[in-house]
Amino acid sequence: MREGAPAQSTRSLRSLSASELEQLVLECGGKKYRAAQIALWLHRDDVESVDGMVNVPLELRSAISERGWVVEQMTEVGRQESTDGTVKWLYESWDGSKIECVLIPTEERNSICVSTQVGCAMQCAFCRTGRLGFKRNLSAGEILEQFVRTRRWLKERRPGSPALSNVVFMGMGEPMNNLDEVEKAVRWLHDQRSSNLARRHMTVSTSGVVPGIREFARRGIPAQLAVSLNGSNQEMRAELMPVSRRWPLPELLSAVDDYIAETGLEVTFEFVLIRGITCTDSAADELKEIVRNRKCKVNAIALNSSENEKLVSPSQEEIDRFFVRMGSARKFITLRQPRGRDILAACGQLAAQKGKAN
Ligand code: SF4
Repeated sequence: MREGAPAQSTRSLRSLSASELEQLVLECGGKKYRAAQIALWLHRDDVESVDGMVNVPLELRSAISERGWVVEQMTEVGRQESTDGTVKWLYESWDGSKIECVLIPTEERNSICVSTQVGCAMQCAFCRTGRLGFKRNLSAGEILEQFVRTRRWLKERRPGSPALSNVVFMGMGEPMNNLDEVEKAVRWLHDQRSSNLARRHMTVSTSGVVPGIREFARRGIPAQLAVSLNGSNQEMRAELMPVSRRWPLPELLSAVDDYIAETGLEVTFEFVLIRGITCTDSAADELKEIVRNRKCKVNAIALNSSENEKLVSPSQEEIDRFFVRMGSARKFITLRQPRGRDILAACGQLAAQKGKAN
């Protein structure tokens, strides 16, 4: 094992729900209220090891460690800082799996984009992660560790910068295919005793897994929903996103409408602009129809870079034309500036550079 590497344990304390943590404390001979103390160390105070929980009795800490439970499971194996302040980390977890997370700072806030799986099975044509293949789901502990480590890093390296207040589940992986662990992570981040992040500060993004969207609404998971639309009709979407062959666009939009009706919340559509494919007059006309009379907004972004030579970033002129064509629906759509271009901050790019996800 590399020096400084975490214990190679699958038992992550941050993966436990509050009731599971209580159960563990009781099994280890501790008093129930100690679970709340431990939860604060884990989720508010960003402790790195069981030993660091200094107000927890030594016997209880030892009993927890002897059962193989650890706090952190990942080692930093790469970090790149962009000239615009964006930082991308590559972590190696307990089994050698590699995952990425990205810090996106602005003057007002710090946001983080976390991974939810090692690799991804969805194979979207414009995404490098899709090419890495799928290895496994991340645990809630591994998802939360990305957040905690970034918060610690900010405190040490950028003191005085805004708090880490926004989380997007939009890194490597399809969150709806790992919903139990994503839910646990969201609920800890939302917990008042923990990071106390409001629902509007967390966004779970899906490529269009319809049963996942329905389950997300049913469970009342306290995060916003974003859908990677990336195609204004079924044919175009199926070409770019194989998920659309399984759950075609009309089915996806119907699940989105039910989500809006059930929760009363707005949905964000992500829309990548690609020359001659999604950035055309007809695509703008179709997108207009999709956003009309729907409680939604669209985040458009020009394709960053792609190894697929058929997929090319549009020129500024083409983007401007697309926006003009949106006409009165223009108010629903925002053009996001790609961040961290110089460090290939789009998901999967660092892992792709360093080889496969495992
Ligand atoms: S865009 Fe997201 S869902 Fe699609 S392959 Fe990449 S990581 Fe997976």
